Amino acid sequence: MKLNSEIHSIIHRAMEGHAPSKSDCLALLSCTPTSGEATLIRGAADAITRSRFGNGGIVQGQIGIEIDKCPGQCKFCSFGEQHTAFQRSTMPVEEVLASAHKFTESGDLFALFLMTMHHFNFENLLEIVTQIRQTITNCPQIVVNIGDFDRCQADELRNAGVNGAYHVCRLGEGTDTALDPEERKKTIKTIREAGLDWYYCCEPVGPEHTPQELVDQIFLGVEYGCFQHAAMRRVYVPNTPLAPYGQITELHLAQITAVVALASLGTPETKNIAVHEPNLIGLTSGANVVYAETGSNPRDTKANTVGYRGKDLHACKTMLYEAGFEYITGAPGHQSSLSDIFCI
Ligand code: SF4
Repeated sequence: MKLNSEIHSIIHRAMEGHAPSKSDCLALLSCTPTSGEATLIRGAADAITRSRFGNGGIVQGQIGIEIDKCPGQCKFCSFGEQHTAFQRSTMPVEEVLASAHKFTESGDLFALFLMTMHHFNFENLLEIVTQIRQTITNCPQIVVNIGDFDRCQADELRNAGVNGAYHVCRLGEGTDTALDPEERKKTIKTIREAGLDWYYCCEPVGPEHTPQELVDQIFLGVEYGCFQHAAMRRVYVPNTPLAPYGQITELHLAQITAVVALASLGTPETKNIAVHEPNLIGLTSGANVVYAETGSNPRDTKANTVGYRGKDLHACKTMLYEAGFEYITGAPGHQSSLSDIFCI
C-alpha cells in the first residue's frame, strides 16, 4: 500500500514543527477515517502532543448548575426550548459547593467549569464563584461555560475569581441554533480582551459537516488564539431536531482531534488539546485533556448526568493512564503521577 504523497509531506512538515495550513487541513480531513493516511495523521498528532506537553494530561470537571427551556434553541441540545422535555430547575448553592468540593479535594482537577443555559442569573453565578473561592482552599482554576456576556461582566467574573471561559461559535451557529454568530464572536473577543483563558472547540460535529466547514471552525480557534482547542462530536440525543442525522464514530472524531492538534501547532496561546466526550482513541490521537461532568448536560436525557453520560474524576484519570500519559497537572502547584491511581 502506498500512502498519498501530499498527506505524507504535510505530516512530515508537522513532525518538524510546521503547522499545516487551511488547505493542508482540508486534505487531512478529507481522508477516510479508516484509511492508512488517517492512521498516519492520528499517530503523528499523538506523538506531537506527547512531545509538546511532556506526556502530561489534564482532567477538567464541569458542574451543570441549572436546567431550563433554553432560548438558544440548539437543534442538538437536550435543553432547546422548542423540543426539550425538561422542566426548569436550579442546583441549590449548597449542592454546587458539595460537587465542587468532591471534584477538587484531591487537587487533581486543573479547572472547575460552571455551566448555565444561554440566559442565566449573573448575580447567582457571581455568588457561587465567590463562595467556591471562599470555601475551597485548594481551588483550581474556575472557568465559566455560559451565554454571551459583555466586558463589564467579564471584569466582574475575573474579579470574583474566574480564570477562563468556554465559548464557541458552533458549527451551524445561526442555522442550527437561534443565536447570532457575530454575538458569539464578540463574546470571544471580550474574553480575550479581559485577559481570561479562552477555551474553544470544533463542535458539535455531525456526519453532515463537510471538511471545509470543519476547517473554518477549527481555524477560528487558531486565529483568535485559544488557550484550549478541542473537538467534540454531536451526540445522538433522541427527539432533538438533528437526531435523524445520527453521529460520527469515535474514530472519525479522533481524526478531527488530530487535525485540531496539528493546526494549533503554531499557536503559542494553546496549552492543551481536549476531546469530548472522553474516549481512548481521541487520547491517542492528539488530545491530552478530558472532562468529568456532574449536574445538567446538554448531551444527556437525565437531569443529572452522573452515572449516565458524565464520567467521574477517577474514570477520567484512568483513561489518561490507559492512554499512556504519565502525570496530570491539577490545582496550582499540584502534579501527580497517573500510576498512583492504583495505589489507593
Ligand atoms: S447548547 Fe447551550 S445555548 Fe444551546 S440550547 Fe443547549 S443550553 Fe441553550
